[in-house]
Amino acid sequence: MKVTVDITKCDGHEKCVQAAPNVFKMNERFIAEVTDPNGDASEKVVLAARICPTKAITVEEDDGTRLFPES
Ligand code: SF4
Repeated sequence: MKVTVDITKCDGHEKCVQAAPNVFKMNERFIAEVTDPNGDASEKVVLAARICPTKAITVEEDDGTRLFPES
């Protein structure tokens, strides 16, 4: 999995951490960081991206297939 957080969009709602706590953590500036893109099941990571209020998270398979946002 490839998981990225657009730090220009993240405003620290922390919903991603609640949905996939082994993938995301909040840094000292209350911006989400990816600690382990494979830390949780892909369904949880996609859920995290889906519920992010600012749509800051992008999720792709290793082969580049986009899981979120859907195109
Ligand atoms: S849910 Fe979105 S806005 Fe909130 S911390 Fe995670 S990436 Fe940032």
